[in-house]
Amino acid sequence: MKRVLIANRGEIAARILRACRAARLEAVAVYSTADRDSPYLAQADRAVCIGPPPAAQSYLLADALLAAALGTGCDAVHPGYGFMAENAGFARRCAEHGLTFIGPSPEAMELMGDKIAGRAAAIANGVPVVPGSDASIDDVDAAKRQAAEIGYPLLLKASAGGGGRGMRVVNEPSELESRLSAAGAEAEAAFSDSRIYMERYFPQVHHVEVQVFGDRHGNHVHLGERDCSAQRRHQKLVEESPSPVLAPALRDEICEAAVRLARGVAYENAGTVEFIYDPAGERCYFIEMNTRIQVEHPVTEMVTGTDLVREQLRIAAGEPLSFAAQSVAHRGHAIEWRINAEDPERGFLPTPGRLIRWSSPSEGPDVRVDTFVREGQTVTPYYDSMLAKLVVRGGSRAEALERSAAALDAFEVEGVSTTIGFQRAMIDHPDFVEGRVHTRWIEERLADTVP
Ligand code: ADP
Ligand code: ADP
Ligand code: MG
Repeated sequence: MKRVLIANRGEIAARILRACRAARLEAVAVYSTADRDSPYLAQADRAVCIGPPPAAQSYLLADALLAAALGTGCDAVHPGYGFMAENAGFARRCAEHGLTFIGPSPEAMELMGDKIAGRAAAIANGVPVVPGSDASIDDVDAAKRQAAEIGYPLLLKASAGGGGRGMRVVNEPSELESRLSAAGAEAEAAFSDSRIYMERYFPQVHHVEVQVFGDRHGNHVHLGERDCSAQRRHQKLVEESPSPVLAPALRDEICEAAVRLARGVAYENAGTVEFIYDPAGERCYFIEMNTRIQVEHPVTEMVTGTDLVREQLRIAAGEPLSFAAQSVAHRGHAIEWRINAEDPERGFLPTPGRLIRWSSPSEGPDVRVDTFVREGQTVTPYYDSMLAKLVVRGGSRAEALERSAAALDAFEVEGVSTTIGFQRAMIDHPDFVEGRVHTRWIEERLADTVP
């Protein structure tokens, strides 16, 4: 590998660029006309315009991305997260053109991208799954019988689902039929795939996930867990490692289960195995595997002292993993705060606009800011609303929280609303301090958390 096309935008494009530099690889950036002012473009060896603002005409357009890669002499493509990252068809087309796709094989992406197939793979590898159905539901009467066995409330999920879409809670038998057809219709519209399955719905869960890596030499390792329970609209807002709620034995159990699954499907490159933790029963259940680098990977980097994107490049180049699981020390506690251009007081509505003022906290060994914005830049309405990720480490969780408070206070942002004030207030909330934040906590407690 000599030259990498970064098939993404925003902070992850800037992040991948840094990793390419560390690996002494050349990097070609792409941009839509809405992103032509992004500061990282100037640092790339080349920057290629791939189309107009709508993602469907630029960052999601395989032809434009492939043309950019081939036209600039790239031999590899890093998809980042979102956009083409979990698109097996795109990965195949990269391979057909002799481009190394920096990620897992298309087969692994297809297998784990399908939630029913992923669930079957988890079961086959002895990974505990949520009580539920093992095949898609195609008959209402059979579904009713099965639902009675699993127990209400239930969660209907689209097998092709993602980004929190295609899910419906069913509280009682009388709701099953109508919710089933609604979920199926939504899944058909969003993913052109109407297959739905069901799981027991746990109203108060924590989201815990395990970072795994595999290489072409048969090594499979985990790098510990992240707790991503602070979510709004099923999207993460704060992530940390280690989890403030998992008992050490349970943590070891899910980390080992995640490695078994990765090994069982001969997984290559970075992946994340997601679980829900039910605090009442003190058990974890597999929900899905994400076949890409995750937004929140810096949390793991901060506690393990690794560079996971650099590791992705090594593995894609055919080199073995640079570490063994046993040799990775987990030091202290790290927390990531997604700084979004959103208004918490209006249900986290995105707030595009001009950044009249943007000053972020000084970085150091325990404070990292991953961003792609600068003062004067306009935040466009076309993509997700994340402006930056603030990642803070401390010797203990208490210290990480204290340093986070100072770092959040140090931001000076004018021109757009952000989540910073809300996140600063979370640090003072006893539920957050004591690890009682479950996945619906923000939505339920918004009223008394918003400053
Ligand atoms: P992670 O688990 O890595 O935090 P997220 O679920 O927050 O992942 O989303 C990862 C990426 O996918 C982000 O770039 C986000 O903008 C993108 N994404 C999330 N939901 C959708 C969606 N519905 N459609 C397109 N992209 C999405
Ligand atoms: P997606 O592909 O949209 O990320 P997931 O299966 O990861 O789908 O589910 C998204 C979120 O929904 C999880 O992070 C978790 O908060 C919640 N969730 C998923 N399954 C369950 C369940 N069985 N019970 C309760 N909450 C769940
Ligand atoms: Mg998920």
